Amino acid sequence: MAYKGGCHCGKIAFDVDGEIDQVLQCNCSICSKRGYLLWFVPRAKLDLHTPESELSTYTFNKHRIKHHFCPTCGVAPFGLGSDGKGEAIAAMNVRCLEGVDPTSLKTVQYDGRSA
Ligand SMILES: [Zn+2]
Repeated sequence: MAYKGGCHCGKIAFDVDGEIDQVLQCNCSICSKRGYLLWFVPRAKLDLHTPESELSTYTFNKHRIKHHFCPTCGVAPFGLGSDGKGEAIAAMNVRCLEGVDPTSLKTVQYDGRSA
């Protein structure tokens, strides 16, 4: 299934394709403060309509994940990184997808704070 998504003001817009089997609610410092509900897809499934250079980017800790957010409205629709095998992945915040009701999704708790 294809989903449309973006930030609040519309500067960041994208399509993403896949099945949302579950979302991850992580208790690490950034996920808990930003309220991310994460769905992981291969980077190739994310069709970003906004040049990456126009996104604001936050990194911390080991700088493995680029936490992108909108410089205008501050909403953070996704992060980009790689999995354990070096494959590029996108961590989508399902709260920023159109037509998705996060309360209807299977939510898995992840103890990122201790990881
Ligand atoms: Zn925005």
